[in-house]
Amino acid sequence: MSKPDWTAIRADFPLLSRQVHGKPLVYLDSANTAQKPAAVIEAVDDFYRRHNANVSRAVHALGTEATEAYEGARGKLARFLNVQPDDLVLCSGTTLAINLVAYSFALPRLQRGDVILVSRMEHHANIVPWQLIAQRCGARIEAVEISPEGVIDIEALDRQLAAGAKLLALTHVSNVLGTINPVREICARARRNGVFTVIDGSQAVPHQPVDVASLGCDFYAFTGHKLCGPTGTGGLWARREHWQSMPPFLGGGEMIKEVRFDGTVFNDPPHKFEAGTPNIAGFIGLGAAVDYLSGIGMPAIAEREAALLRYATGKLSEVPGLKLFGTAPDKAAILSFLVEGAHAHDLATLLDLEGIAMRSGHHCAHPLMQFYGVPATCRASLAFWNTEAEVDALVAGIAKVRRMLA
Ligand code: PMP
Repeated sequence: MSKPDWTAIRADFPLLSRQVHGKPLVYLDSANTAQKPAAVIEAVDDFYRRHNANVSRAVHALGTEATEAYEGARGKLARFLNVQPDDLVLCSGTTLAINLVAYSFALPRLQRGDVILVSRMEHHANIVPWQLIAQRCGARIEAVEISPEGVIDIEALDRQLAAGAKLLALTHVSNVLGTINPVREICARARRNGVFTVIDGSQAVPHQPVDVASLGCDFYAFTGHKLCGPTGTGGLWARREHWQSMPPFLGGGEMIKEVRFDGTVFNDPPHKFEAGTPNIAGFIGLGAAVDYLSGIGMPAIAEREAALLRYATGKLSEVPGLKLFGTAPDKAAILSFLVEGAHAHDLATLLDLEGIAMRSGHHCAHPLMQFYGVPATCRASLAFWNTEAEVDALVAGIAKVRRMLA
C-alpha cells in the first residue's frame, strides 16, 4: 500500500485551516474531542437535506432510507471493531455505555461486600457509575494501583483478582498519561479468576486498530466524537450472553415488541437497549468517520502518531523545568506535563493567545491527580493530522510563556 499523504489528509479537516487570535490554529486537544473531516460533515448534512426521517417507525421511503442508513452505520462500526452488529448497542457515548453496564449488568449481580476493582488512571466516567451502584448494593470500590511511570501494577492486580473481586473497570488507553494497558493479558487473568471486565476504549479506538472480539473482555465502551464522528454518538459491545441476560436500562419506544398494561415484551438486543429516537444523523456521520479512518488505515494512523509522539517527547524533554507525567513504554500520543513556575491554566491560557489549543486541568481523573500530588496538568494530545511544525510551535510557545512569567 502507498504511504498516506499526510498533508492532503490534513486538508480534509476544514476547521484546521482557521485562525485563532490572528494565528494559525494548532489543535492539540483531540483526546478531548477530535476534529471532523469534510466527509463526516457532508454525511450529516446530506442526511438532513435529503433523507431525514425517524428510524424503525415509518414504512414510507424516507423512513426506510433512514433506517437502512442507521443500521448501515452500526454495520460499519461493527466491522471497524471486528464484532457482530447485533452485539453492538449504539448510545450517546462512553458515559452512557458504562452506566448501562453498571445498572443493568452489575447492580443485579453484586452483593454487600463485593469488590469492584477500578484502576487509578480511570476517567470519572469509569469511576462514578461504580460508586453510585456500590452505594446501592453495598459493594466496595478498590483501586488498582500504578507505578510512577503510569503502568498498572500487574502483580498487585493479580492478587486483587485472586482475592475474589467481582468486576474490573479498566481503560484501554489513559486519557491523561497515554499509557496503553495490556488489555488482552489483563482480561485473560481476570477471566481465569471469574472477574468481569469493563473496558473503556474511548482513547484507544481513534488511534490504533482495535480487534474487540479478540481482547477477551466482557464489555467494551467507546465514544464517537473522539473517533472523528459527531458528539452524542458511541457504543457498547458486550458478549452475547450478557445482552441476553441483562434487563433493559431505559424504557420507551423502539425497545419493545408489545406493550400492554399487564406487561411488556421487549425487543431483541441490541434494540432492547436503545430506547427512544437515536442520534440518527450523528451515527450516519460516525459511519462516515470510520469509513474515512479505514480509508487511511488504522495501522498507518498508529504509526504516524507514534512518530509524532517520539518527536514531541524528545522536544518537550529538552524544555528546562518541564516534567512529563506518563512515561510508559507502550503509549499513545498524549503528553501531560507541568512547567516549573507556570500554573497549568495560565500556560494553556497564554498558549491559546498563540493559537495553540491545549487542555489544562484534572482531565476528569481526580484520583490520578491525587496520586501525582498535583491539582492539574497541561495535556497536548496529538492526532495523525498534526505536524512536527505544530510540536515546534508548542515548544516555542512554552519558551515564550516562560520568558513572560520569569
Ligand atoms: N473515558 C475516557 C478515557 C475519556 O477520555 C472520556 C472523554 N474525555 C470519557 C471516558 C467520556 O466520554 P464521553 O464524555 O464522550 O462519554
